[in-house]
Amino acid sequence: MALVATAENVKALVDGLNFAEKVARSLRLISEAYEEYGDRLVVANSLGKDSCVVWDLAKRVNPKIAGFIVTTRFKPRETIDFMKLTVARYPELKVYKNDSEIPDRLYETNPDRCCDVLKVEPTRQAIREMNVACWVTGLRCTEGRTRTDFQEVEERDKGLVKLNPILIWHEREVWQYLALYGVPVNPLYAAGYRSLGCATCTKIANGPDERAGRWIGTSKCGGECGIHTQPLKIEVRSDR
Ligand code: SF4
Repeated sequence: MALVATAENVKALVDGLNFAEKVARSLRLISEAYEEYGDRLVVANSLGKDSCVVWDLAKRVNPKIAGFIVTTRFKPRETIDFMKLTVARYPELKVYKNDSEIPDRLYETNPDRCCDVLKVEPTRQAIREMNVACWVTGLRCTEGRTRTDFQEVEERDKGLVKLNPILIWHEREVWQYLALYGVPVNPLYAAGYRSLGCATCTKIANGPDERAGRWIGTSKCGGECGIHTQPLKIEVRSDR
């Protein structure tokens, strides 16, 4: 992909490009990757505001682009309802969920393990089953303390490229896009949430850190479920 920024100029691009330039850049990144990977390019749609942008951008690049959603038994009712509406509109979004038994209140006693079982494992399954070579995410480097070191294109697992096409977008620009292009979002945002996850681990929080409401009271506070912070440790088929 020709357009990809180096580690140094990601920071410069965050404030150096205007909204329209960022939209154009994101569309080009997805478009270049789609040319390279075809239907082995798949969007990981978390149903959050950032994923709504990325999904809309991908559909503008090519309506045939597919995706997957990872859901858990602890998602809020509003998120489940929003998921059902989204999948009814886009049947090319496959839903993955791990229903295996886990210890009671694992999200309190060992949230890392809980996320690994309920979120990371179904992500691995989706990537395997959909034969993904390039997955597209809504990660943004301005989103919080845990997200400052990502790149637009990464390869943490050999043969599996991760494309982060809105890496350099500000939160404001995400809302700007959703408003300007009339993209529907989870109604929980209207209630004051800024970052959405499982109901058990997500609160409304104020302050500069967008993810401050996640895992409050645990060692993971403001942190990550683990999907993006470590290799998925999966074998990826090389056929293209
Ligand atoms: S966000 Fe909370 S409930 Fe959901 S998988 Fe992670 S620890 Fe478990």
